[in-house]
Amino acid sequence: MTETQAPSGVMIQRVVKQYGETYALKDVSLDIPAGSFTTLLGPSGSGKTTLLMSIAGFTRPDAGRILANGRDIIAMPPEKREFGMVFQGYALFPHLTVAGNVAFALKLRRRPRAEVQERVKRALDLVQLGHLADRYPRQLSGGQQQRVALARALVFEPQVLLLDEPLSALDKSLRADLQWELKALHARLGLTFVYVTHDQEEALSMSDQIAIIRGGEVVQSGAPSALYERPKTHFIASFLGRSNYVEGRVSGRNGTPAVVAGPHVLDLPPGADIPAEGNPVILAIRPEKIAVTVDSGSGPGLPGCLTAWSYLGASVTCRVATDLGEFHVQLPTWQAAFEPREGQALRLHWPPDAGCIVRDDR
Ligand code: ADP
Repeated sequence: MTETQAPSGVMIQRVVKQYGETYALKDVSLDIPAGSFTTLLGPSGSGKTTLLMSIAGFTRPDAGRILANGRDIIAMPPEKREFGMVFQGYALFPHLTVAGNVAFALKLRRRPRAEVQERVKRALDLVQLGHLADRYPRQLSGGQQQRVALARALVFEPQVLLLDEPLSALDKSLRADLQWELKALHARLGLTFVYVTHDQEEALSMSDQIAIIRGGEVVQSGAPSALYERPKTHFIASFLGRSNYVEGRVSGRNGTPAVVAGPHVLDLPPGADIPAEGNPVILAIRPEKIAVTVDSGSGPGLPGCLTAWSYLGASVTCRVATDLGEFHVQLPTWQAAFEPREGQALRLHWPPDAGCIVRDDR
């Protein structure tokens, strides 16, 4: 692996894939910048694997183009694309050592012995398994086995590494360790990673770019913080984290648009694309952006009543019944302004820019 080699980006343009009546991919366009860690995130059945397999060359789309290094590769067989792949459930050969597993495909291609040895060593060093080269898969932990699978993909020195839920078989703490390792590996190699997951936290923590896929379409793509802070739709706001929703109509209060919801008039976020007066609008507010005070009977804020709470160590999540429905509020424990008590009268506060207008796509 030469660490200076320029990686390739991938451009997906209007890709369609149909299975009978089902559109696995409807009309997908996505720019995967060279050297980025791009994650395809979506619920089960949304089309993530079909898109990844189309990039890999194992699935042939019905229409559209896939460009790598500016060349259309849609008709190119997978082995010619020279992309590395790490699948779910790593399936190592049990009768081959770690080095044997990593060398396998190189030997199949009859590469010279010295080259095979050199490449295997480099790939194993990259995933910090050089010292276990002579072990058999059954003598390795789950995380080590997954690292062998990674080395097996890296041995070809690909410019693009495609990873399909590679950590889904691992338990939580091992998964977290490997997430750090994968990120570090990505930073060290500077390769383009295309990563499939249905785990939103994994996507948020690892990616430079997330493409949210739903029903065979990319519904929004961007940096994790951009998607979390400014989700375009109700689905995205609820799929990526939690949100509270206020449904109302746009009114022009003193010339400034606001949302009228029940008996309340609430500020809309500044700079948002606000529908015309009288139109329905949904405001999404993240639980951690809401502040809580004890209700003293009057004053600003949305009045509510604490119905339940859950202590999570670093934070406490409160459920608050209001006349706009139930709100979830997440407060940092160390600065909580009150001791939770069922039935307690509270007021909820948030600054106008804590809210985000989302399109109704439920
Ligand atoms: P995901 O990876 O997000 O779970 P997939 O890409 O596997 O989603 O599937 C997207 C849709 O296409 C699903 O409705 C799935 O049932 C359908 N699909 C995928 N592969 C095939 C296939 N080989 N034959 C028929 N339908 C398929």
